Amino acid sequence: MKVAVFNTKAYDQSFFNSSNEKYGHNLQFFEFALNPQSATLASDFPVVCVFVNDLINRKTIEILAQGKTRLIALRCAGFNNVNLKAAQEFGIGVVRVPAYSPYAVAEHTIALMLTLNRQIHRAYNRVREGNFSLNGLLGFDLHGCTVGIIGTGKIGRIVGQILTGFGCKILAYDLYPDQEFAQKYAQYVSLDELFAQANIISLHCPLTPETYHLINQEAITKMKSGVMLINTSRGGLIDTETIIDGLKSQKIAYLALDVYEQEENLFFEDLSNEVIQDDTFQRLLTFPNVIITGHQAFFTKNALENIADTTLANITDFEQGKSCPNEIKHF
Ligand code: NAD
Repeated sequence: MKVAVFNTKAYDQSFFNSSNEKYGHNLQFFEFALNPQSATLASDFPVVCVFVNDLINRKTIEILAQGKTRLIALRCAGFNNVNLKAAQEFGIGVVRVPAYSPYAVAEHTIALMLTLNRQIHRAYNRVREGNFSLNGLLGFDLHGCTVGIIGTGKIGRIVGQILTGFGCKILAYDLYPDQEFAQKYAQYVSLDELFAQANIISLHCPLTPETYHLINQEAITKMKSGVMLINTSRGGLIDTETIIDGLKSQKIAYLALDVYEQEENLFFEDLSNEVIQDDTFQRLLTFPNVIITGHQAFFTKNALENIADTTLANITDFEQGKSCPNEIKHF
């Protein structure tokens, strides 16, 4: 099939070309994002392939439909950037890659927790400057900590399993508790109880209208003083301005973000020679107890191979008129 692949970097092209030897689709790579301004370039492509920060709103979908696109193939798990209702109205199918490597994201989450706790980011710089003082690098044992996991799907459950190995107590909150996870690893509690008890809170639920700004002023008030907050899910789960207040008051003692509300203006690009205009983001970077990675949690060799393979298989299913297990039907 003729596929317009938007928002690609050299590494995407390399993994897709390699996997496509098996599928034989006609892939045309664009480096820019799909949005209402660029959507006309998809004209006569029956399939568009997009990533987390492409903007597939109603306007984009209208233009895609005019250009005879019939399938939006997301090469990611989350689909909060697609107006599914509009896609359905215009008869455009939407498929995704529900699980490419939950281990990649879960392991990055743990890396962020350990880095923050043991101040590895600061120690790295100090030692390189010949400063071997330990002042200000005091950590705490993860063993014995209570960790609250919000969203116990594929990624959240792996985070819980790994942390059980560290000797942490796992509290969990999910709209649909997982029985096996509850039996082996975690105690499901209300969101309020999780906020009240957890030393570390890790977000693993999707961004939906219900979870938008789940971490707001009210939620922070309910948390323990000195809490560590990790978000490797979606930026919109956190009200960033409120988090800055929480950091200033030291209620939040540690914050790690792999995702950020306004990340589409920043992430995945080299802006090292530019002046960043986002003052909120720049304020976050001034805190010594904040670590930000640029939507990197998924970025392992294993995950990129799975992403390319599943995306191309989804497109083949569509081409052959087969029902695709990764189609997003219910929303
Ligand atoms: P999943 O669908 O397996 O699990 C999501 C869980 O969240 C489900 O158990 C669901 O019941 C729960 N949930 C839904 N609404 C909720 C709510 N209102 N409150 C509490 N729980 C709720 O998804 P996953 O594969 O574990 O991925 C989780 C999220 O991680 C994705 O939605 C995506 O946004 C994010 N993600 C980030 C990266 C990255 O590179 N940073 C990569 C992949 C996924």
